[in-house]
Amino acid sequence: MIKSCYIHIPFCKKICTYCDFCKFYYNEEWASKYLVSLENEIKLKYNNDLLDTLYIGGGTPSSLDISLFEKLLKICKTFRLNNNYEYTIEFNPEDINDEKLSLCKRYGVNRISIGIESFNKDNLKYLGRDYTNFKEKIDVVKKYFDNINVDLIYGLEIEDKNTLKKDLDKILELDVPHVSCYSLMIENHTILNNMGVKPIDEDIDFDMYKLINDKLKEYNHYEISNYAKEGFESRHNLTYWNNEEYYGFGVGAAAYIEDKRILNSKNILAYINKKYNSFIEELSKTDKISYELILGFRKTKGISIDDFYNKYNIDIKELYNIKDLIKDNKLIIKDKYISINSDYLYIENEILSNFV
Ligand code: SF4
Repeated sequence: MIKSCYIHIPFCKKICTYCDFCKFYYNEEWASKYLVSLENEIKLKYNNDLLDTLYIGGGTPSSLDISLFEKLLKICKTFRLNNNYEYTIEFNPEDINDEKLSLCKRYGVNRISIGIESFNKDNLKYLGRDYTNFKEKIDVVKKYFDNINVDLIYGLEIEDKNTLKKDLDKILELDVPHVSCYSLMIENHTILNNMGVKPIDEDIDFDMYKLINDKLKEYNHYEISNYAKEGFESRHNLTYWNNEEYYGFGVGAAAYIEDKRILNSKNILAYINKKYNSFIEELSKTDKISYELILGFRKTKGISIDDFYNKYNIDIKELYNIKDLIKDNKLIIKDKYISINSDYLYIENEILSNFV
């Protein structure tokens, strides 16, 4: 039984300088055709499973004009949700208004994720994003929802620790229950990469990461980049980090079903013409274990030793050179969980390369 579902809406009104997601400039005619194909894909592939979590991301789902936005929410009524579901939709701050939020409420959305990224006008310009009165916008969201996430990006070459500190102070003033903080990655085929921008020095990046952890102390740092007040952890994203199955609908969306990782076509024309899958990876037991470790060690709590044994019939402590990593204090065992020592969480990838 699959318990989570991701829907990708690839349209954006503006393209950010760092973006390597699957996205296209908003065009009403294309968006309308896209929703027809999306509805068809869901009809074809959704097996009526009772879902715990539904997540509409992008792109910018909130960029859809109001009638298409409502059409999207109507399409998502297809999904059966359990009584205690989590249903998230992503918003860009400039799209936040009473009309769209009340529609979300009416159609059962109960969590809003907002890409603020920075409060600093120079940072926003660098990222290709618009400035707005974020506090006012969040206050509008709070009239309808209490489960709110905001995203922050740090580690820009034009940014220093003082700017980041101010951003974090503003985040704290917003008093939202969930914060995601991502270090800026300079990915291929992005505007920043084409401009020849290089990532900032790792030591500076690490200093900024420590500053975030210090400033967000009142939150539970439950995943490398994610901080939540108790009970507000993203259940949808935990599906990924727990290496559990999920549906993925929309152009470029990924799904994990019956030991297969399925990637949809990133070509919007193909997608609109109902040509959906482009790549299917069949997973061996070794592949599944690798995913389990790569994803599971992102959580500060780590991986349950018992759950791992029940899933794979293997004692995780006996795997590869995990014993050495425990001896080096890079991995620690606590309350029947095995996790990366928080002092080393920042270099998680380096640690994983030891045994994946
Ligand atoms: S970062 Fe988000 S809003 Fe910006 S272009 Fe990419 S998908 Fe669109």
